[in-house]
Amino acid sequence: MSHDYDLITLGAGSGGVAASRRAALHGAKVAVVEGSRVGGTCVIRGCVPKKLLMYAAQFGEGFAQARGYGWAAEAPAFEMARWASAKAAETARLEDVYRKMLAGGGVELIEGWAQLDGPHRVKVGGRVLTARHVLIATGSSPVRDSLPGIEACATSDDLLDLSTLPDTAAVIGGGYIAVEFASILARLGVKVAMYYRASLPLRGFDEMLRTAAAAHLQAAGIELHPGVVPQRVQHTADGFLLVLGEERVRGFPWVLNATGRRPNTAGLGLETAGVAVAPNGAVVADETMQTTAAGVYAIGDVTNSKNLTPVAIAEGRAVADSLFGGTPRNVDLSRVASAVFMLPPIASVGPSEAEALAAGHRVKVFETEFRPMKQAFIGGTERTHMKLLVDEASDRVLAVHMIGADAPEIVQSLAVALTAGATKADFDRTIAMHPTAAEEFVLMREPARVVGPVQP
Ligand code: NDP
Repeated sequence: MSHDYDLITLGAGSGGVAASRRAALHGAKVAVVEGSRVGGTCVIRGCVPKKLLMYAAQFGEGFAQARGYGWAAEAPAFEMARWASAKAAETARLEDVYRKMLAGGGVELIEGWAQLDGPHRVKVGGRVLTARHVLIATGSSPVRDSLPGIEACATSDDLLDLSTLPDTAAVIGGGYIAVEFASILARLGVKVAMYYRASLPLRGFDEMLRTAAAAHLQAAGIELHPGVVPQRVQHTADGFLLVLGEERVRGFPWVLNATGRRPNTAGLGLETAGVAVAPNGAVVADETMQTTAAGVYAIGDVTNSKNLTPVAIAEGRAVADSLFGGTPRNVDLSRVASAVFMLPPIASVGPSEAEALAAGHRVKVFETEFRPMKQAFIGGTERTHMKLLVDEASDRVLAVHMIGADAPEIVQSLAVALTAGATKADFDRTIAMHPTAAEEFVLMREPARVVGPVQP
């Protein structure tokens, strides 16, 4: 049976665009359907504008630090409206780049909201298109029903569109988005209070990072309320009331809901094609990214596996290579590096110490903590923490964890070494580059402790 297209991709975010372009490169006839802006969450309302706001926040401390380095200038004031207009121009430029990449790559962009209409059929507006394969790459959106009344609060999407900042803000949640934006807002002069239900922020990260993150957030002037989650949020004329318990309420002019994200599956007509959705709302996909329906694949946040842009891109390219490139392959997600862009940032690759122990490793734990040169010179107190986990039996470096200036840049490079199977002996015979913070990773000689079951 002939179809209009070899592949129709739903969603022109990073994953959908990468998959579509790779499929077209292999000679497939491809269309990508997008109802919002081309570029998706990462480019338009996520990673990219967030990092641009983090750079803005960094200047806040940069001006103060500059005085310690001999500069006489007074700190200028931050104007969110100026940042917002520069951000709007930059995301528009990037969207244009994405559109040109699609056109240049031979991918047809169809603007509108797509809906499956049985296997191999996609409805867009009044049109019905048919495809040999369909790829669901619709991403995720902020959860708006985690607490009663929270739907009226701002999400990260709204924050990145503000043209003025509130004086005071509450952040609900303790994950990536909560920590990043609390840290950024505080550096931009907002008085922030964070409410999260665990004892430490950043569940899933190594304990050393979580403890240090809490200390850094506090040092930035953020009020931490671990183990405290509002029972409900009340929208008032001048902001919000967080109802924290019997007769305990606290008002804030602005509240960030950072209680997680949910896969975008509503209204996609998945049931018409037999695509199963898990109880957490994620599209069910196997290791080849095939859903429960033949010919229908899903990648990225909509599958809720590792919700990171580079993972969606890798999965999308793997699907395209498998379907159209004659090279079937899966993506190995066992060693994905990730970063939390708080100030100072966190980066990690490999398991936390608790995860390594749970996996049965006997682990040599190497740790160091120091005040970086840049801080020491100006009497700053910010400390860098680093950790290496080494499997005692094989000497393989299992994980690298860091919180401190440039952690994401450093750990991304070390992730190559871990992917290549580097041992602690390889780290030891690497000559340090001085003076850097990264050199500490090749200068750790004695383990702080050896933990886990003794191997037979
Ligand atoms: P996370 O899953 O990281 O964090 C959600 C937070 O909300 C957790 O602290 C969670 O608590 C809390 N929470 C969830 N439900 C409730 C509830 N009902 N009441 C109170 N608290 C609740 O989600 P984010 O939205 O921060 O980020 C979504 C995903 O996007 C991340 O997992 C990450 O994959 C990706 N991302 C990556 C970034 C990066 O790479 N730098 C940046 C931003 C996002 P608890 O931990 O106790 O469950």
